[in-house]
Amino acid sequence: MSQKLVLTTLVILVLSACTGTESMLVEEGPLAGINITIDPGHGDTQAYDSFRIGQTGEREEWINLRVAKLLSQKLSRAGANVLMTRGKDRDVSLGGRAALARLHQSDLFVSIHHNGSVNDLGMDFPLVYFFGAASLNPASVDFAKILLDSMRAEMTFNQQQAGAAYSDHLIYSSGTSVLRNTVDDMPGVIGEGGFFTHPAGEGRLKSKEYNKLEAEIYYKAILDYFERGTPSATPLIPDSLKFIDLGKPIEFELDDGFGNTFFEENSFMVLQDDEKIQSSWDSNSGILTAVPDSSQEKRVTFQVFARNLKGNAMHPVPFKFLTEFGYDWYSHGKWFEAFNEAEVVYTQIASPDIETSENQLVLIDASLHLYQLSLELQIVHPQARLAEEKILWLLEKKQDLLEVDLSEELEAQKGRLKDYYPE
Ligand SMILES: [Zn+2]
Repeated sequence: MSQKLVLTTLVILVLSACTGTESMLVEEGPLAGINITIDPGHGDTQAYDSFRIGQTGEREEWINLRVAKLLSQKLSRAGANVLMTRGKDRDVSLGGRAALARLHQSDLFVSIHHNGSVNDLGMDFPLVYFFGAASLNPASVDFAKILLDSMRAEMTFNQQQAGAAYSDHLIYSSGTSVLRNTVDDMPGVIGEGGFFTHPAGEGRLKSKEYNKLEAEIYYKAILDYFERGTPSATPLIPDSLKFIDLGKPIEFELDDGFGNTFFEENSFMVLQDDEKIQSSWDSNSGILTAVPDSSQEKRVTFQVFARNLKGNAMHPVPFKFLTEFGYDWYSHGKWFEAFNEAEVVYTQIASPDIETSENQLVLIDASLHLYQLSLELQIVHPQARLAEEKILWLLEKKQDLLEVDLSEELEAQKGRLKDYYPE
């Protein structure tokens, strides 16, 4: 990104030298051209929510919106492309907020909240949440720590040194909706800049001046974060790739965020479907080469981890590929192609020519797969009930042949027939 940045700056300088106009100069800095989504939490809950309110009537969603607007103006002035998930006191669904952030192709997602406690009105400290396990979400944790440190250093809390950057899995076992639904695309946090249920805290949060200070804290944290550069990885695979060959190494081209390849030693890691696989780094070429494991899955996901010399971790966006097996599985375009082929294979199973049970099993698996594929391609099709019945029969046959317990699958299939296809 930095090479591009230098080029743009040069072009602007040349342009302004030629025309002599100052107005051609656009502010260039770490935030220029960065996409950021600012999400003011909640909205329009006054009619039914008696929790998000301080003792003198200030509501959380109002504070969130004031801070978010001030922050958004500052970021825009610095050249960032800012998207606010709401600009008024209105509600936006959690799924909608995440979808907006993804559509905006955000480099960072920041959800602005303030805390409340009904049990302990004395509580007042900052919290910043990130999604999931810290080790799997290092870029979000980096930003969360920068934000928390600067909240502690410059804002006022009753418990000034309390608070932390915490996983959102502490609140909900599967994490928060907005962070869960953005983490595959961008780093993100939920900031909680103090408690509106604390009497003095509410007083502060009501004040425009204090809202300005808080917006400034967020702004500086965002600036700090992007000044350290945002490393990225690009898988080097041809556009024509239909499926990934797991027998061959996969290469990733790394950028430290400044157009260079300076990374902390030993900070490299590649995960394939959450398991670490072997990888080696070549600092000269900037290529990280990973050796995939074989997989029975239809799809595999790779994630790349590395940390640049400024201390910023790469956000491990999942790179998803079809395997050869997956490619075969999905290669039928129409339900009836899969269904007709299933019927052909199905008749072969009972054929007297098929003697060994091993061969029979291969045919059973193939027709099972094809019947299931016909339903995957078109869940309601003219032969759907027949396909489901055949699947049940095939599972029974497979259980007999293999002498394994498939009772769970069988029960599930019987349940489907009974519930979805009443006679
Ligand atoms: Zn909230």
